[in-house]
Amino acid sequence: MTVYNLGSINADHVYAVPHLPAPGETLAATGYSIGLGGKGANQSVAAAKAGARVLHIGAVGPEGLWAREALAGYGVDVSHVARGTEATGHAIINVDPAAENAIVLYSGANQTLGAAAIGAALAGAGPGDTLMLQNETSVQVIAAQMAAAKGMRVIYSAAPFDLGAVKAVLPHVGLLVMNEIEAGMMRDGLGGLPAVDVIVTKGARGAEWISVGAEPLFVPSFKVLPVDTTGAGDCFIGTLAAALDAGLDRAGGMRRAAAAAAIQVTRKGAAQAMPSASEVDAFLQ
Ligand code: ATP
Repeated sequence: MTVYNLGSINADHVYAVPHLPAPGETLAATGYSIGLGGKGANQSVAAAKAGARVLHIGAVGPEGLWAREALAGYGVDVSHVARGTEATGHAIINVDPAAENAIVLYSGANQTLGAAAIGAALAGAGPGDTLMLQNETSVQVIAAQMAAAKGMRVIYSAAPFDLGAVKAVLPHVGLLVMNEIEAGMMRDGLGGLPAVDVIVTKGARGAEWISVGAEPLFVPSFKVLPVDTTGAGDCFIGTLAAALDAGLDRAGGMRRAAAAAAIQVTRKGAAQAMPSASEVDAFLQ
């Protein structure tokens, strides 16, 4: 089947810094690189490298063709990545020696998608296909609604967290994925977790799949030495979507996702750090 992903595409400007900048501070970076990023693109790359057929729905600006080509280079179908006049989304990512990060985002072209583009991209989709989405694009609600109406599996990453967006998308979601901070904001905003399947990722500790009426399923993280955790959550979600698409059950999918994310955090960068299916196979042996 196909994993459709309505997702952001960003140029990631990554700076190595001695510590995360304080208010008013001017800080000299000790390293710099630019690469493909954005939660959406990262998740598409993770899912494609995990072996899924992935169609990305998104947009780049006039100077962002390289990003679309980079996505295609990972095996992602980019025929529904539009090229508009708004600047390509981009992120300024500071990473400290402990691999902690702080990020500033400009969403640009990611916010320019309309309902017609979603309808066209999902025209051939149906039951058994998956739609992934996050909060970095426009039209998530329409996309989730269309996908749910087609009987697709809808996997929603509620990041960056926005309670209004989450409330609007949730009625059409089958699986909601959040990190612990987002889950905390969700509990504060809704007075609890919603009555859908929820995965809460807990960094180096593990991840928990919570279903209504079932025992929570906890999968511990693999012990590794992290170098850069940027994109760990995206790696987890993309790999999980690919695994569920391939027919794995919850436990099997979570284990593969945890293994992929463990490999991913040992490498610098986001999209470029996503492991292939064979690397995950070798890691799990
Ligand atoms: P990020 O914002 O850094 O992309 P996140 O906050 O969305 O990540 P996390 O919960 O930190 O998400 O991490 C997602 C998953 O990645 C975890 O559930 C775990 O499987 C894996 N992971 C993250 N950090 C580590 C680590 N230090 N060691 C092993 N696995 C990790």
